[in-house]
Amino acid sequence: MKLYNSYSGRKEAFSPADPERPTMYVCGPTVYNYAHIGNGRAAVVFDVLYRVLKHRYGDVLYARNVTDIDDKIMAAAEQQGVPVEAIVARYTAAYHEDMAALGVLSPTIEPCATGHIREILAMIARLIASGHAYEAEGHVLFHVPSFESYGRLSRRSREEMIDGARVEVAPYKRDPADFVLWKPSSPEQPGWDSPYGRGRPGWHIECSAMVEAHIGVTVDIHGGGQDLKFPHHENERAQSMCAHGGAPLARVWLHNGFLDIDREKMSKSLGNVLLVRDLLAEAPGEAIRFALLSAHYRKPLDWSDETLARARQALDRLYLTLRDLPGSPTVDPATAPPEAVLAALEDDLNTPQAFAKLRALARQANASDDPARRRALQAELLAAGRLLGLLQQDPESWLQAGGAGALEPAEIERLIAARSAARQARDFAAADRLRDQLVAAGVILEDSPEGTRWRLAARSH
Ligand code: AMP
Ligand code: ZN
Repeated sequence: MKLYNSYSGRKEAFSPADPERPTMYVCGPTVYNYAHIGNGRAAVVFDVLYRVLKHRYGDVLYARNVTDIDDKIMAAAEQQGVPVEAIVARYTAAYHEDMAALGVLSPTIEPCATGHIREILAMIARLIASGHAYEAEGHVLFHVPSFESYGRLSRRSREEMIDGARVEVAPYKRDPADFVLWKPSSPEQPGWDSPYGRGRPGWHIECSAMVEAHIGVTVDIHGGGQDLKFPHHENERAQSMCAHGGAPLARVWLHNGFLDIDREKMSKSLGNVLLVRDLLAEAPGEAIRFALLSAHYRKPLDWSDETLARARQALDRLYLTLRDLPGSPTVDPATAPPEAVLAALEDDLNTPQAFAKLRALARQANASDDPARRRALQAELLAAGRLLGLLQQDPESWLQAGGAGALEPAEIERLIAARSAARQARDFAAADRLRDQLVAAGVILEDSPEGTRWRLAARSH
């Protein structure tokens, strides 16, 4: 397998420390709000990686953290007049629901920051003892000039880093680039006792401590969105390497590109933040997942209504092929995914290429009238789908599922039955009226000697 390592700037052959169990750590959500579609992209991209690694290596240790202590969470709690724990519980549950709807598997472990205060304080103590951190006015700061290769991951100059981090210029800092490992909490803020007074951890140190606690000194793959490269990952790297005598934090650094909306950056100030939750009310999670994987993960993904509509049509075509193939439930789940799809995914997760191969398989299936060949192609399509987290639904249900505003299936069945009855009674005017009503509701009728089959054409998006 080849992966593009952001650290080296090259595609490299991936070789895990333990081929029996590769390890992967992805920076997960800060739970103060519902996940937006950009967060969805990160989760879905690393989910595909997880599936491909599991296929190749059998077992994978995948940790995705939850940041459950953060100033944004505290601000949300204050604004809504509820305890911090209530915000954390609500948005963690919502995150799980939304990601499950996008077909994202649960990681092996989901450690949270507040569950690792002891490990965080232990790492901070080591950093102070080795001269990489210092205490000042209830804060502990990492001293950036103490780590020579600071900036190597994000390839930034010192000036760019100081501007880019927008770190506070506080009087107690020895250097303007120094960042917080621990900070004081006021009595009403959440906090833990420590040698530096009651306080809470900074954001970056939690990941360093949790990688160490759950994976060890070096993780095979460390991932997240490209916005995390600096300062978050740069800081994680500095902390961990200084705490581990210079041993690397990650063998491979992987960053997904950003998702933009109608060619604009998604941001609160532009008011164009698209929540996964809201999209799920309009479109099936599988269509959203397909759309998120339609661009290569390192490229920017420009999201628009059309992105989703195209994904839906592409899935419709694949499900139409599957529907017309022999009995899908009989397919052996142990069937190996086709080499071409696997090769595309093992080439730095080339999902657009994998989708092209899926379409090619579907075309072959449509064109073939050899039953054995069709059965083999069906098994391959389903196995490829499993690797991508797609195509596992009953094709008929997929094709008949509507969105908001669509007729209920039972109502559609009733109208179709009424139309057949009218036709049998040779009341063709009534039959045509019923047919028009169904067509107007977006129902495509397929009459055959065995009866009438139906599916929905353009669904409400
Ligand atoms: P956060 O909760 O903001 O820390 O983000 C969780 C994950 O989503 C991180 O890996 C981010 O890098 C990623 N992410 C945030 N915004 C976007 C975006 N617009 N496009 C792609 N990934 C994003
Ligand atoms: Zn992190």
